[in-house]
Amino acid sequence: MDMQVPKKKLSLKERYTLMTRDLAWDTSYQPKEKVYPYAGYEGIKIHDWDKWEDPFRLTMDAYWKYQSEKERKLYAIIDAYSQSNGHLGVTDARYLNAIKLFLTGVTPLEYMAHRGFAHVGRQFPGAGARVACMMQAIDEMRHAQTQIHSLSNYNKYYNGFHDFPHMYDRVWYLSVPKSFFEDAMTAGPFEFVVSIGFSFEYVLTNLLFVPFVSGAAYNGDMGTMTFGFSAQSDEARHMTLGLECIKFILEQDPANLPIVQRWIDKWTWRGVRLLSIVAAMMDYMLPKRVMSWKEAWEIYFEENGGALFKDLARYGIRMPDCAAQIAKEKDHLSHQVWATFYNYGAATDFHTWLPDAEEMDWLAQKYPDTFDKYYRPRFEFWREQADKGNRFYNKTLPMLCQTCQIPTVFTEPDDPTKICYRETTYKGDKYHFCSDHCQHIFENEPEKYVQAWLPVNQIYQGNCFDDGVDPGAPGFDPLAAVLEHCRMVHGRDNLDFEGSEDQRNFEEWRGMSKRNA
Ligand code: FE
Ligand code: ZN
Repeated sequence: MDMQVPKKKLSLKERYTLMTRDLAWDTSYQPKEKVYPYAGYEGIKIHDWDKWEDPFRLTMDAYWKYQSEKERKLYAIIDAYSQSNGHLGVTDARYLNAIKLFLTGVTPLEYMAHRGFAHVGRQFPGAGARVACMMQAIDEMRHAQTQIHSLSNYNKYYNGFHDFPHMYDRVWYLSVPKSFFEDAMTAGPFEFVVSIGFSFEYVLTNLLFVPFVSGAAYNGDMGTMTFGFSAQSDEARHMTLGLECIKFILEQDPANLPIVQRWIDKWTWRGVRLLSIVAAMMDYMLPKRVMSWKEAWEIYFEENGGALFKDLARYGIRMPDCAAQIAKEKDHLSHQVWATFYNYGAATDFHTWLPDAEEMDWLAQKYPDTFDKYYRPRFEFWREQADKGNRFYNKTLPMLCQTCQIPTVFTEPDDPTKICYRETTYKGDKYHFCSDHCQHIFENEPEKYVQAWLPVNQIYQGNCFDDGVDPGAPGFDPLAAVLEHCRMVHGRDNLDFEGSEDQRNFEEWRGMSKRNA
């Protein structure tokens, strides 16, 4: 008689090995270098991919199970929020402009991250790293989808949400996040992982997600809060992957250190320039504020990041040089960026406004050394002008930084009354920069950055008008033509919040929900 022998249950580790690394194979009829052509091109030396420690032992079946549970919860809440007109519970319709910025500037980056990690997962010769990148690629796709689904509710009622993928490729300030990710994706696989997995996900992500997600919670936006929390456990995995990658690369060969250090220097700076939009959002766009940009920088970069770099010192990694300049800029950044958006408020896909008296007092308290001295007088002057009917919309186009693509609006690190410009001549052409750091990044890889698609330069070359538009026609208005090309609806999506359709509708609908109309 046959005895039934119970199957031995596999340990988590065995099971994980069987379902991930054991799925890999070695090449037979092609040399490995031809199958992984990008693995050697950056000069990073990896001797033994088996030394890769998987930061999280998650098999694909477990992954799908966890993720689907999260999806069910997320969509139940989103449905309830939409059906109960939850949007009328936000503090003030001004708040929604922060969310427009998120949908147009951040959500497309999630999709870029999806593509980037899928590409890198294909290019790494090590199976452990490949599996981790594949999971992150799927996570990032999910983030793009959940954000679009959650925010689609606002598109039913408010302006500025309608054409975000079209705008992403055309609108001047959106070329800043776009170029950031394109720079990372067109680098080699190791630089991509250091730039996005480490510098962005590990060092800087708290500065993006905490302000937006806590900002949503403070301002009654359940939709954004829910997708934020739903992404959080993925973020924890992404951060672990970023840190593991850095440690793995550094442990493999001492020759990797200078290359990795240069990438950390570059991507910390590029990341901080990208986050200048978040700085303005935190200090100016949230009706109920979470904390100031300066406070967030001190907690999440100076304290947490400082401890991290101390930890990495044993590999020879040091704090990026740009940290010194960022420490000087933290008192100025948000004010300069918001002032720029206010100036160019005729060409933004969201509304702008001046801080009111109470908000200015808050800013003065958070920025005691700079706000009253440099920025309050400017805002008060603009308020006076607007009250007299002279609301100023800048119609000339600014010079852009060739590297970060932000208009050169930042001031000298040691003189907040002087705009900072740098220039480099390369092969007979002149290129402009917002800072020493952007200049150095360019000078390290000029052939890459001379190809940058700079919106202002493209507009002046006539490449940002719809087909058939004749710039030589009498009475031609270039700004109107550019807005049309971006599908920004003049008078609805742009200009002042005060008097906007969003403002009027919100007040009226909220009133209807509180009384018998
Ligand atoms: Fe993501
Ligand atoms: Zn720059």
